[in-house]
Amino acid sequence: MAGRPDEASGGGLEDSPIMRALTQDHARRRELEGRRFERPSDTRVLTIANQKGGVGKTSTTVNLAAALAQGGLSVLVIDVDPQGNASTALGIDHHSEVPSMYEVLVDSTPIADVVQDCPDIENLHCAPATIDLSGAEIELVAMVARENRLRNAIREYLEAREAEGLDRLDYVLVDCPPSLGLLTVNALVAAREVLIPIQCEYYALEGLSLLLKNIDLLRAHLNPELVVSTILLTMYDGRTRLASQVADDVREHFPEQTLATTIPRSVRISEAPSYGQTVLSYDPTSSGALAYRAAAFELSERPAP
Ligand code: ADP
Ligand code: MG
Repeated sequence: MAGRPDEASGGGLEDSPIMRALTQDHARRRELEGRRFERPSDTRVLTIANQKGGVGKTSTTVNLAAALAQGGLSVLVIDVDPQGNASTALGIDHHSEVPSMYEVLVDSTPIADVVQDCPDIENLHCAPATIDLSGAEIELVAMVARENRLRNAIREYLEAREAEGLDRLDYVLVDCPPSLGLLTVNALVAAREVLIPIQCEYYALEGLSLLLKNIDLLRAHLNPELVVSTILLTMYDGRTRLASQVADDVREHFPEQTLATTIPRSVRISEAPSYGQTVLSYDPTSSGALAYRAAAFELSERPAP
């Protein structure tokens, strides 16, 4: 870079305010490597929801979960998307014979019977989804307390762990399918908190109002305690004006909820799942891994609602 004529006067890109900010940011994020996160006083159950597909729900679920677990916390990911992308990304076997959330929701199998350990991250567990779950959406319709099945299963699991003298879980993160069917309703009834990932693009806010309306309905009828505690801006491309406009809009509307950390667009994040890994193990020093670690730290530092 040095010696380029356009850099002679201003001291060059290295010295520009934006570069200084980036370097500082990077240093701050790296500081979090190896840092222990504070345990919440009780298990926090968060559902990662957005009825749009491809906005970063699954990436956010698995990478936040991995970052929290690396911070020394005990974390369970519950995959209720029949696609099973979260299970794949965590390196969890989920072919159709594997006991999964289908059995939990439809046959009342205890969660303990389906949970698997994530192979490359300690304290990270996953209750996988298999393709069978796509049928559960219909089978659940005829069942008693069909909206409460996940909530009850999680409650029983936490109680059973306590009765057995096992460590208390710190975080339960539920990954949803991109629709507002009974699986997503179960996930929203089971949680105290909703975390909404928002892709920094034009229609982000428009889609959000529909989601918020549905969350209001759920709160009125099925889960009075539910709060949208956290919004995470994902796939942020700092080179586009659009991304920063969307980010500003979201922050203006949801100043309390929106995390200061944004997740950048990063090839590493999109590559990791095909290796059955989160970006935190696939490329721990990449910008995507650092950003998810910073977002997880922020989440852990905020008081639970
Ligand atoms: P959802 O679960 O909402 O459908 P995903 O997390 O599966 O969304 O993300 C959709 C696609 O975008 C996936 O291919 C994923 O790898 C990719 N992706 C997610 N987050 C990022 C990011 N920050 N940078 C680049 N690609 C991303
Ligand atoms: Mg997904």
